[in-house]
Amino acid sequence: MADEQSGEERQQRSGRGISRRGLLIGGAVTVGAGAALFHEELGRLWWRVPGIDKQRNKGEVDHRGAQWIAASEANLRYADRPADFTVDRVVIHVTEGSYATAVRVFRDPLHAAAAHYVIRAKDGHIAQMARELDVAFHAGNRGYNERSIGIEHEGFVDRPETLTDVMYRSSARLTADICARYEIPVDREHIIGHNEVPGATHTDPGRHWDWDKYMKLCREAARRRSA
Ligand SMILES: [Zn+2]
Repeated sequence: MADEQSGEERQQRSGRGISRRGLLIGGAVTVGAGAALFHEELGRLWWRVPGIDKQRNKGEVDHRGAQWIAASEANLRYADRPADFTVDRVVIHVTEGSYATAVRVFRDPLHAAAAHYVIRAKDGHIAQMARELDVAFHAGNRGYNERSIGIEHEGFVDRPETLTDVMYRSSARLTADICARYEIPVDREHIIGHNEVPGATHTDPGRHWDWDKYMKLCREAARRRSA
């Protein structure tokens, strides 16, 4: 499951996060915006803060077929990847709870964690909750959050039957897509478990996660994609 943001990240949110807002507010004031206009401007221009160049369109997803369900802004940090941080890892999680619960807690501003994607066990349905541009707090390690995309899988680490074939396949297509878009090698150095993140306190995806099967599916999906 997604790990709570590190203290460093919390500090960064309250430091760099506020200073970005401060700059934005300064800009809005100089154009003489009234209170109502100010709020509208804030909504429209927030991405034009230093270091964030790409416009975001409401409901847009990075993986075709994914359903957009926005995580709380408090559980991620706006960024401009891969321009500001190289993306070279995919981190695999298991939720230790239902799909619905994962979606709900990632929308909760007090949860302090979210992954980019959540995949449902029964049908492989994918919810995208954070844009890949942004740094989602899922790995419990600032550097790994900045360089990775996190995928949650509905299930329990001690109940292998919850890790369904349809979910493995859907996830493998997603991972192959991510790897192709960022030119990440499809191997175990770059596709890792949450437990393999340095300093990880979480054990997911656990010993029942079938890495051999998953990597085979990822390689197949990558081949189909480039064929
Ligand atoms: Zn995890």
